[in-house]
Formats: sequence, C-alpha cells, structure tokens
Amino acid sequence: MPRPIAARIQPDAVRHNLQLARQIASGARAFAVIKANAYGHGIERIYPALAGAEGIALLDLDEAVRVRELGWTKPLLLLEGIFEPADVELAVAHRLTVAVHCDEQLDMLAAAKSQRPVDIQLKMNSGMNRLGFRPHAFRAAWERARGIRSIGAIGLMTHFANADDGQIDWQLDTFDAAVQGLPGEQSVSNSAGVLWHPRAHRDWVRPGTILYGASPTGVARHVEGFGLRAAMTLTSRIIGVQTLAPQETIGYGRTFEVDRPMRVGVVACGYADGYPRHARTGTPIAVDGVRTRIVGRVSMDMLTVDLTPCPQAGIGSSVELWGDQVRVDEVAEASGTIGYELMCALARRVPVVVADAADPAPAAQAHGERVAAA
Ligand SMILES: *Cc1c(COP(=O)(O)O)cnc(C)c1O
Repeated sequence: MPRPIAARIQPDAVRHNLQLARQIASGARAFAVIKANAYGHGIERIYPALAGAEGIALLDLDEAVRVRELGWTKPLLLLEGIFEPADVELAVAHRLTVAVHCDEQLDMLAAAKSQRPVDIQLKMNSGMNRLGFRPHAFRAAWERARGIRSIGAIGLMTHFANADDGQIDWQLDTFDAAVQGLPGEQSVSNSAGVLWHPRAHRDWVRPGTILYGASPTGVARHVEGFGLRAAMTLTSRIIGVQTLAPQETIGYGRTFEVDRPMRVGVVACGYADGYPRHARTGTPIAVDGVRTRIVGRVSMDMLTVDLTPCPQAGIGSSVELWGDQVRVDEVAEASGTIGYELMCALARRVPVVVADAADPAPAAQAHGERVAAA
C-alpha cells in the first residue's frame, strides 16, 4: 500500500470558477492564467476546463508549447515576454502574444528577421515597480514598438500591486493618463480586479487564483458568497491514535500540552508533502467530514489532530487537509502565507488523481477516479 495521501484535481471546479469570473467581468474576454503549472494543479489536468476562455496566459515558453501541443489555437500570452533573442522565433512559430516590459525586449524584436509579426502587450509599470515601462516613458515605447516590423498588434497592460485591499485607483488613474489616445486592447485585472473592480475589467481580464477556488487576498472569508469551488483537494487518512492524559504533550518541541484527556489522530501528511510546517495549533482540518484542528507541530511525514469533535474517528478515517470543507486559504492564514503558495508547493511525492467530469462530489472517494498520467 502507498501512503494514503492524495491530491484530487477537479477540472469541473476550474470550469465552474472560470464561468463565474466570466459572468462577473461579463464585458471582457478572459485570459485564464495557468502559470506555475496551473498553480500546481497540472496544465494537462485542467486544460479541458479552459475551453470557455478566449485566451491563456502563462510564463514559461515550454509551458506555452505544451499548451499549443494540447491543441489550443486561441491567444496565448507570455506574461513576462521573451528572455533572449532566440525566443522570438519560438514566439512566431507558436503564435504567442508576448508581454514587452523593457527596451531590451524591443531590441530583440527589432533585430528579429521573422516573416510573421508577433502580437505584443506593452506593459506599463504603473506603481508595482516590478516589470514595465514607467508612465512617462510609455508613449515613446509604444511609438517605437509601432515602428518595429516584427511587431503586430499592440495591447496595453499593467498589473496591480494591491487589487486585494481595494486600492487600485491610483494605479488605474496613472495608467489611463499615460495611455490616453493610444489605440489597443487593454488588460489590467488579475483575480482581485475581476472580483472587486469593475472599472478595471476593460477588454481582457487575467484571472488566476480564483480559477482554482482560492482567494486573491489569501483570506477565505473575502470570497465567501462568490461560490468558488476548490480545484484541489488534499486528502489523507488517520494512521495512528493516541489517548493523552492531562499535562502530556504532542510531537516535536512539545509545543502543545493537553489540559484534559484527549484523543489525538496521527495523519499521514507532513511538510514533505507540501503542508506548511508553520501551520499553528488550531489550523482547521476535517476528519470524517467533521471540522476540527491540528495540534502540535507539523513534522515531515505526519501531523496530529484533535479528535474531540469526532469521537467515532479512528485508524483509517478520511482526512481533508484542504478542499471544499477546509479552504486552502484557511490553512494558509494559519501558516502566515496565502493559498497560492500552498497550491504551488504541493510536493512531487503526493499522488495526484483527476476527478471525472461527471463526479462533482468533493468528498467522493477513490471510486470514479483515474490516476493522472504524469
Ligand atoms: C499571476 C498574474 C496574474 C493572475 O493573478 P491572480 O492574482 O492569480 O489572479 C495576472 N497578471 C499577471 C501579469 C500575473 O503575473
């Protein structure tokens, strides 16, 4: 028997969340963002759920090639653009749209001898201060891009530093002032922009994390009511039970001491599976469908849970680490991070199963599943 841990990927949840995003930003077309191997879910696994998107956006050229090989014929955007001159030919060959955020990338495109032009999204640094042309230099960059033969359509994009706490107007005002009068389709919204900033929907939105059911703020309750579904459910089982007497402690560092008799379940999941070691005592977890809490320190291969709310639970009981009962953001919040990081950090050793499209039940067991190829 392998260890009982598994991550269950539900393409249907991605389809549902994409549909929601499209309803909320109903005037815009959508680039589904699937960078970082679809935020850890696996591009090939969730690809069938993306049919409703007008475009796909990601970072790595090799991931873009994989998406074309899967049969994607619609726009495919490289969010950081090209990294070296040779990438131009690949962009041409695979009909990629590339972000252009610096003069060096314009140089590479200007030097290219390609037959077909490459569509670009000219990126403005409107205040995030990572990638992009400064607002005062943006118009000149646009003029230069327009004069480069190997460049086709020029879109206008920027990225928000804190779309999650409501403060985007300062960046959007900067962007609008700098692009005034310039033609070209605009794309400025990530997931938070989609959910909370209709003013920022524009021509194309770029939702990422909400497609997987996670909160752009990292706080689960901020997305309550939108009806997002978890695309990844991490499950395992209880492999040991201890009954502790008052004053006994649990696990490494003896960080948790019981003050009353307590049954504690030992779950086959640890930080080597991608569960955060910093998850505090009290982090929610579900055992046999009942929400309870982890107690003590997470170790490499195991963690421990308070079985008080589920006295019937014992060895073999099913555990949901995160999914639809316990949102990945709740685990992240209790660990000082955001759901994005946990989804992306799922360890390679965790077996992944893909749920059948016809099987939406998040708690469904191995029945009706197939093991994903790779
Ligand atoms: C990652 C990314 C997105 C998607 O962000 P989410 O917060 O996951 O929706 C959108 N645009 C750019 C440029 C990105 O890098």
